[in-house]
Formats: sequence, structure tokens, C-alpha cells
Amino acid sequence: MNTDALKTDIRTVFPNAEIGRVYFARQNIFLEEQYGFTPENTRFAEGGCCDEINEPECRFMQSYWGERFKFGGLAGYCHGGRSGLNAVSHHVPEVEGRKNLLLVTGPHIGYHQGQWGRIPRPGQPDITASCGSLCAVLQAGCESIRKKPEDPLDLQQHFVEQIMLPFLEKCSRSSQPPDIVEATRFLMEKIDSDLFAIIGDLEGGFNGQIAVITGITINTETGNFFEVSRFEVRGSNR
Ligand SMILES: [Zn+2]
Repeated sequence: MNTDALKTDIRTVFPNAEIGRVYFARQNIFLEEQYGFTPENTRFAEGGCCDEINEPECRFMQSYWGERFKFGGLAGYCHGGRSGLNAVSHHVPEVEGRKNLLLVTGPHIGYHQGQWGRIPRPGQPDITASCGSLCAVLQAGCESIRKKPEDPLDLQQHFVEQIMLPFLEKCSRSSQPPDIVEATRFLMEKIDSDLFAIIGDLEGGFNGQIAVITGITINTETGNFFEVSRFEVRGSNR
């Protein structure tokens, strides 16, 4: 399937999805032209899922802006929390009185031959889950997650389970099998609300601009797409 046909397919579900690299390249230029973000006065941080499938855009952004701070983890939730984001806010370079923090995060979902939540990976005969963390939660189901004891050796996954429990309960009440696209959107909303709550508390002590890009990464066999959820630049550049 060529890229245009794939994009058309993806846009039936994520109407604003774009090729990831194209989206981020455009935003990088926009951030410089409108807000004065440069590689010299900006610290880039990302909070995506651990899954290596999301690396191309992370590496693209890292090569543009410089080394990246990581505040994410399983499922693309901001597991780094207040401590992680507070830490990176102290790592921002200042040039001629200007300092900028750029945060990029969000969940991800595979798409392959009409199926969501699945992706073939190089060198593997079987199709695998994407996002594996989120798919595992949906597969376990409401009852199993409710009864599952907290495992200190699996705390990120435990947290994703707890985040998704209201979604699973809603599916259970309506006797609907949990849908991976809806689950990904539910998780996106949770990430947006939690991340912006943390940023709101951070802003008072940060004398610069904070750009935030959140959205859903769609993994395909031929590369990643991105549908933005929120794009905001906050704070002052003077
Ligand atoms: Zn994942």
C-alpha cells in the first residue's frame, strides 16, 4: 500500500493524522519563527512509550534540538511525573535571556491491513501488539485488573492498568468489548490532563517558554503517522 492510500485509510479514524516526520519538521520551524526556539536555547524532552517503534520521530527531534530528556515510559504515560518534569525544567540552556522547554508526548497505536493495535516488526514472523502495554491491559479485562495485586517489580504497567480501569468498567457495563482505538483516545485524554496539571504547577517557577505537543503516534509497516491532540506554547520569551 502506498503512503497516500495508507494516509487515507488512517484518516478515516484519525482525521488529522500526518506523516510524523513532516508534522514535527513543520512544528520545529514554526517554533523558531514564531517563538524564537533554537537548538541553542531549547531543551527537548519526550514522554513516549518505551517501544522502539517510536524511535524515528524521537531521533529526528533529538537530532534537531539536541540530546533528549525522557519523562515517559510504558504506554506513553508521563511516569516521570512532577519530579521528572521539574528536573528537566532545570536543564534548559539560556541564551541572551531566552530559554525554552519543548515537551512532546502521547500514546501510540499500530495499524496493519485494516487492523488497529497490531504491527509487523522487522525479522519477526508474527504480528505483534502496539501499544503492547495498553493491549495487555485490554486483554486482561476489567475483573482481572481489579483483582490483580500490585507488583513492585511492574509498577509502570500497574499504573497503566489503574488509569485504564474506568475505561474497562465502562465497557463492561455496556457489554462492549474494549476497543483499542477508543482506549488509546481515553489514555490520550488522561495524559493531556495529567501533563498539563504538572506543567501548570511548574510554570510559576520557570522563567521561559514551554512548548507542549501531545498526540497519538500511529505505527505502520512503512513508518509512523502523528495526530496532534494539543499544541501550546506557554510563558514568556523575554
Ligand atoms: Zn507502547
